Amino acid sequence: MNYIIDAPALPSLPVIGSDRRFPIRRVFCIGRNYAEHAREMGATVDKSTPMFFCKPADAVVGDGADVAYPQATADLHHEVEMVVALGAGGHDLSPEQAAALVWGYGVGLDLTRRDLQAQAKAKGHPWDVAKGFDHSAPVSALRPADAATVGAQTVLRLSVNGELRQQSTLGEMVHDVPHILAALSTLFELKAGDLVFTGTPAGVAALQRGDRFHAELVGVAELHGRIV
Ligand code: MN
Repeated sequence: MNYIIDAPALPSLPVIGSDRRFPIRRVFCIGRNYAEHAREMGATVDKSTPMFFCKPADAVVGDGADVAYPQATADLHHEVEMVVALGAGGHDLSPEQAAALVWGYGVGLDLTRRDLQAQAKAKGHPWDVAKGFDHSAPVSALRPADAATVGAQTVLRLSVNGELRQQSTLGEMVHDVPHILAALSTLFELKAGDLVFTGTPAGVAALQRGDRFHAELVGVAELHGRIV
């Protein structure tokens, strides 16, 4: 293709057990998917209508990265989440059909400028500047679904500087993965390469420059990094 400016690089993630990489098309996120976290944010869970937002694909940064403390905030928060990677697409899918889209799993941080999010909520503004900033999505290497055991007992957790900050099992999710993907597919035609952040458990808190984080989807994927 003969582009008029240099074409942007395609964001991608490494794959555990392979020398090939997973190309990232889009990043979708669900909000308020663990009841305890919704409560700590002063919100209630609406089981009938899942709430979604997006991050740019190039907000993703890989394992081991130094993440620069972002501009325009004094309250950067961590939200540890399971990340689902799609290997196929479709729209208006049943939960059973949607489950078949899952190519693999990882763990990530939905980094949030909490002060800007609070302002957006107060003004009824969109969440883009609170959620979709540069480097707002550290994500681990992905484990292919056929090599992963992921279920209601799987533990999701985050430590910062060796201290446990967030921990839950996936069974605490309000909407499970098939239902998240089915609901998303009524709003967007899902495509291979899409990543979906599946919500955070309670315990979100601030990160400071110098903090080292260690996120785990236990037995599946791990993410290390540092705020600088
Ligand atoms: Mn989140």
